[in-house]
Amino acid sequence: MSTATPTPPMIQAVAVNKHFGDLHVLKDINLEVPRGQVVVVLGPSGSGKSTLCRALNRLEPIDSGEISIDGKPLPAEGRALAALRADVGMVFQQFNLFAHKTILDNVTLGPIKVRKVSAEEARKTAMELLDRVGIANQAEKYPAQLSGGQQQRAAIARALAMRPKVMLFDEPTSALDPEMVQEVLDTMTELADDGMTMLVVTHEMGFARRAAHRVVFMADGEIVEDATPDEFFTAPKSDRAKDFLGKIL
Ligand code: ADP
Ligand code: MG
Repeated sequence: MSTATPTPPMIQAVAVNKHFGDLHVLKDINLEVPRGQVVVVLGPSGSGKSTLCRALNRLEPIDSGEISIDGKPLPAEGRALAALRADVGMVFQQFNLFAHKTILDNVTLGPIKVRKVSAEEARKTAMELLDRVGIANQAEKYPAQLSGGQQQRAAIARALAMRPKVMLFDEPTSALDPEMVQEVLDTMTELADDGMTMLVVTHEMGFARRAAHRVVFMADGEIVEDATPDEFFTAPKSDRAKDFLGKIL
């Protein structure tokens, strides 16, 4: 046996359970995402996808099990939690930008407050990130002045400004007008190509086929299938996955 310390998975969930009252929404979830891997999470509405995302950065407490990010167990609360949470960037369906702050201020706020970066440094990084997502020319505007696609790209830049190790996306294009979906998916694809570890809940099957290393299919709080996109889309094993694909494709 090798004595070298193995690289820990970037995300590791072991036997995670979560209830809302009588509803068992996460049932013994085991999930490992190695560094640099892109995992797309698919599944019908109500299957627990959002709850899993929220559990992964402790926006949602779990009842049992363990979650580690980059080999460090997620603490339940306190300053250690804040630090680890900063390692996990999250982008939601609703962009959640601060309406009364400019795009630039939206992106610099976290690094200045949480990461203790200087205003000058935060601004420089923010402009680089806004340029990377293609909206540097919108930096001085307010969220409402941007299109939905631009706002979502700003939200991605804001998450990246914290220098996360992992990015979680929960249906990032579901609230967008159809013509804006692709620009956000393109931004996400670039991020994946740059080697970011990503967990993406989406119904965009084209993105899943092209960008995902793995597809995790959830139903009723369980991971029912965990396969390569090719395996999953051409030969789903479970009836629930077949049924889901039949409805969505
Ligand atoms: P998905 O994202 O796959 O649609 P969710 O994780 O949002 O699923 O929800 C899983 C189940 O948990 C659903 O039945 C949902 O109604 C329920 N649920 C989600 N959040 C709460 C909550 N805060 N309180 C009670 N039930 C909830
Ligand atoms: Mg959801």
